[in-house]
Amino acid sequence: MAQTYPALHMMIDGERVAGGGRRTFAVRNPATGATIGELPLAEVADLDRALEAAARGFARWRTASAAERAAVLEGAARLLEERKEDIARIATLEQGKTLAETRIEVMMNVGLFRFYAGEVHRLYGRVLVRPAGQRATVTHEPVGPVAAFAPWNFPLGNPGRKLAAPIAAGCSVILKAAEETPASALAVLQCLYDAGLPGDVAQAVFGEPAQVSSHLLASPIIRKLSFTGSTEVGKALMKLAAEDLKRTTMELGGHGPVLVFDDVDVDTVLDAVVPHKFRNAGQVCVAPTRFIVQDGVYDRFVRGFAERAKAIRVGDGLEAGVQMGPMANARRPEAMERLIADAVAAGGTLECGGTRIGNQGFFFAPTVLSGVPLSAEIMNEEPFGPVALINRYATEDDMVAEANRLPYGLAAYCWTRDARRQKTLPARLETGMLALNTTTIGGADAPFGGVKWSGHGHEDGPEGLAACLVTKTVHEG
Ligand code: NAD
Repeated sequence: MAQTYPALHMMIDGERVAGGGRRTFAVRNPATGATIGELPLAEVADLDRALEAAARGFARWRTASAAERAAVLEGAARLLEERKEDIARIATLEQGKTLAETRIEVMMNVGLFRFYAGEVHRLYGRVLVRPAGQRATVTHEPVGPVAAFAPWNFPLGNPGRKLAAPIAAGCSVILKAAEETPASALAVLQCLYDAGLPGDVAQAVFGEPAQVSSHLLASPIIRKLSFTGSTEVGKALMKLAAEDLKRTTMELGGHGPVLVFDDVDVDTVLDAVVPHKFRNAGQVCVAPTRFIVQDGVYDRFVRGFAERAKAIRVGDGLEAGVQMGPMANARRPEAMERLIADAVAAGGTLECGGTRIGNQGFFFAPTVLSGVPLSAEIMNEEPFGPVALINRYATEDDMVAEANRLPYGLAAYCWTRDARRQKTLPARLETGMLALNTTTIGGADAPFGGVKWSGHGHEDGPEGLAACLVTKTVHEG
């Protein structure tokens, strides 16, 4: 099938905005390195126009009925499902991950939009008990226009998350999705427009990230910052938001610990965790990263992990049978080479992988390192790539200490058949999400978010909607 990539533009106040002498960003196919599109970048006047429209869109959408908001979300879910194949191909072309993965991403958005189409009908307030003739009511109102920043690793899922809950809550949104994956975000947005969402309620701008965020966050029109990305950038944006005391939801980095105890069946665990490690070439904030493995199963675990990693078929995500695509951009393989060289120099053992594959695109081999000293950079910095780090531990206390050692706390995984441990471990781990004997770490109805340097606030679930609302109490005499 011929691969077509759409013409790129911004969406400001319901209009496609491109050209006009604006600077552009070259979007590349990570499987070939070839430029596939030129993305127009916002000028200050574009951002000001989007802000003015967002204020107008908010004034309009905050009064939309629950039925009207739900109809848009439900309609967009239906259109996403209908357009699944086309949208999945666009996402694979610009991001690299396999078609199987981008199809799942489309369906994640379908599930999320449907969930919030239902949830909007449950935006209840309450009436307090007061003496006769008096009344007090508590209501929840939309927080206001949201500035939302979505990264490239889930080109469809991240924009979907940035849009669904604010739209359900009655907010307007200015979305800056990643410049590297703009067409996916635009395809999601188009489903919302085609389902009836007014063009001033959700808009898409692209640009030089720091310039866009500092301009939008300086505006009093924006009442909430929603950011997914690295801890470092998140901290900088929170400081900007603090100037105007804007509400924040921060989905930041992680360094997922995976505790594997002696009592497990090693093959069962490996069959689950190895594909989970290498999905999206490891560029996942909830990726399992530090495998904290108990003595009794350690050797078999390392051997089995490396065997499975070596068997993974890496290639163009559009090709049938490929299990892992390229990394999303040229920065990632460079980061892998740097981190792996440092880990080996520090005394870690390279069990497999460790190198780029081929000389075009951004491919990197599934990599397993064992016995990596805690001082190595990769044991402290989020690798965000196809690298598993496996270290040996003797006791549960040491394993828990290692899991909690870093300032991150997004996703943790634990594998044990011991009933006592299954009950006691969740309370001991500093994490926003824990997967116990599973790799499932999210769902449309489940709050998604971290603790410590992994951020605060939630997306998905009723909590994701609550994060877009402010509370008002009215006392009547
Ligand atoms: P980065 O930290 O510069 O960018 C991450 C995302 O933030 C990108 O989408 C980028 O456009 C955006 N961004 C960067 N500076 C910004 C600013 N000042 N204002 C607004 N948005 C800004 O670097 P990167 O090379 O794209 O990724 C590097 C690291 O970021 C990864 O190693 C990983 O740790 C982290 N990351 C995390 C997630 C996540 O899902 N939490 C996603 C992508 C990247």
